[in-house]
Amino acid sequence: MSHIIGHIDGDSFFASVEQSINPSLKSRPVITGAERGIASSMSKEAKVLGVTRGMPVTQIRRLFPEVIVVHSDFFLYTVFSRRMFDIARRYGEEIEEYSIDEFFIRFKKGKLFFERKVKSAVFNIKSDIKKELGITVSVGLASTKVLAKIASNWGKPDGFTFLKDQDRENYLKATPLNKVWGIGERTAEKLEKVGLRNAFDLVSEDFRRIQKDFYKPLQTIWQELNGQEVFPFGNENLSPRKSIRSSRTFIPSANKDFLLKEIVEHIEKATFDLRRMNLRAKCMSVFIKTQTFKYKEKEVKFFQPSNASNIAVVQARIILDGIFLSGVLYRTTGVIFSGLENRESTQQVLFNERHQEISLPFKVIDNLNLRFGRGVVGLCSGLKKSSDYKKEFRKSRFSIPSFGEVD
Ligand SMILES: [Mg+2]
Repeated sequence: MSHIIGHIDGDSFFASVEQSINPSLKSRPVITGAERGIASSMSKEAKVLGVTRGMPVTQIRRLFPEVIVVHSDFFLYTVFSRRMFDIARRYGEEIEEYSIDEFFIRFKKGKLFFERKVKSAVFNIKSDIKKELGITVSVGLASTKVLAKIASNWGKPDGFTFLKDQDRENYLKATPLNKVWGIGERTAEKLEKVGLRNAFDLVSEDFRRIQKDFYKPLQTIWQELNGQEVFPFGNENLSPRKSIRSSRTFIPSANKDFLLKEIVEHIEKATFDLRRMNLRAKCMSVFIKTQTFKYKEKEVKFFQPSNASNIAVVQARIILDGIFLSGVLYRTTGVIFSGLENRESTQQVLFNERHQEISLPFKVIDNLNLRFGRGVVGLCSGLKKSSDYKKEFRKSRFSIPSFGEVD
């Protein structure tokens, strides 16, 4: 192999992070997602009981009263995520952050003991993450991203699988098509109809037939499954994410200031992620949902692509003025940033100086928040939120009993 690609995936990531920071949760069945009313991540102990992703919390409480249900803390997960990536950077120069709990690492072939060195780097990453973060990851090594994803899925949790070219056939025969990265349920069904059941059946097909009968992404997957590296590597080359969204459901409130503070918090969270991923958004929409599930949303286009929270807040305030009706109870607010583009690809020659002016304080804010915890530094419009929230909570607790619907 001229190179080896590793895919590294946090096991039960959110639940594991909760267990890591709270020793009383260790070795116990824990799920996150209380705020949405459904399980979004299950600790391995909860999985053993039979809790699955998306299961309603009410059902979990009834069937498995021993399960501990906690609220998601995405800021905390982001901190763990960043530290996980930083650990990996100690051992490999090429890292691609794929999602909050997954990344790829690419090792270029060296002269001596190449495979042995790669294995030892990966074991160091695993053991540093365990020691320093208190969580486990599963690792897959192979010659392409698609194969590495298959490998990391193999020995979960705390797994390590090296899928070598000579063993490929066995792994692929045991991999159903819907478990291949990039093949959705519908494509898998279509492929089954023409007699292909597993990944090996697919790679055994003639490439010309794949080219003739199937769409382009499947051709790429076919090549990757055959050990030809086609997917580009590195965050700059990532197929851009379509949007970043943050929203939350709360005790219904008719207080406009409270809604604005919620929206500001979403903007801070989402723009933090944009900056972390080196992205800027062309558009932002703000939405609110009433107690009776009426949905209002409005989108603005930024003067130039942006990830600055202060610019977004000014726009959000205008949108909220336009869609808010007084006397109506609202239960959810959210923001969606779309039209995302990589910082380097943004046409910003003219605005370069202005960008630097804007982005410098956010770098400081992001670093302070990462070091000292969420919300240590934020925009002033978000500051009064917690005391107001308590007031709102007290008020609404007695008048509106229904709460906890999934948004
Ligand atoms: Mg994971």
